[in-house]
Amino acid sequence: MAQELEGEVALVTGGSRGIGLGIARALAEGGATVAIIGRGEARAREAADSLPGSGHEAFGCDVSSPDQVAATVKAVEEALGGVSILVNNAGITRDNILLRLKDEDWDEVMDVNLKGAFNMTRALTRGMMKRRSGVILNISSVVGISGNAGQSNYAASKAGLIGFTRSVARELASRQIRCNAIAPGYIETDMTGALDERQTEALKEQIPLGRLGTPEDVAGLARFLAGPGARYITGQVLAVDGGMVI
Ligand code: NAP
Repeated sequence: MAQELEGEVALVTGGSRGIGLGIARALAEGGATVAIIGRGEARAREAADSLPGSGHEAFGCDVSSPDQVAATVKAVEEALGGVSILVNNAGITRDNILLRLKDEDWDEVMDVNLKGAFNMTRALTRGMMKRRSGVILNISSVVGISGNAGQSNYAASKAGLIGFTRSVARELASRQIRCNAIAPGYIETDMTGALDERQTEALKEQIPLGRLGTPEDVAGLARFLAGPGARYITGQVLAVDGGMVI
């Protein structure tokens, strides 16, 4: 039986591990061919090779660099054809309380999390507009909605992604390009690191569903939003957080 994403080409930034790798795997399971983007090409290649199906590719690229993004998008489209699904997932944290945040902590987080999404979206929408179809998914965070002490730079970048998502959705809807954001809660990855038992229990108490999330919990929604079942959904922000922010 044909899978719902067969014939689609997906580009996933930060697809080499964590949530991005979970999303890349779910899209590949749906039948898409996937281009994995990360700063480290070797790790991205390992991730691409681990996906189900064939033809997946890996590219080393820092999404905060407009020049690298332009060159990478050209290489992806030469290798795989026009990208129909873009997942802006690459993200970093540089946490500190406001008074201790350095200029570079602010700038690096904005450059990767927010400008990186802008760089990729701008580079890929020309092709999507010509083809009059496309899906853009931005990985925001529940802290972009609720805020979080010690993460003012990160929360601002994730709130910025929500405004970006809604604007792009309005701007590109007439070309049948949809743009939505996913706001994960606490997901176990390298970014969140290993917690001790006491920290895990304290966190679980704040989560109505009573457990931390996994990359697969986020990936299921990404696959749905990328597919035909979501064809009338655009400009939305969907939380995947076990009910942490209701
Ligand atoms: P992660 O495990 O730290 O993985 C981050 C990924 O982004 C890696 O593949 C990394 O690859 C890539 N990356 C980082 N900087 C990059 C850059 N400048 N250019 C290209 N790729 C870059 O993080 P994660 O937990 O999976 O998070 C993924 C996304 O979900 C992030 O946007 C994060 O903010 C968001 N999120 C996470 C959580 C959570 O609880 N984990 C919650 C809410 C939202 P390289 O190191 O090879 O570049």
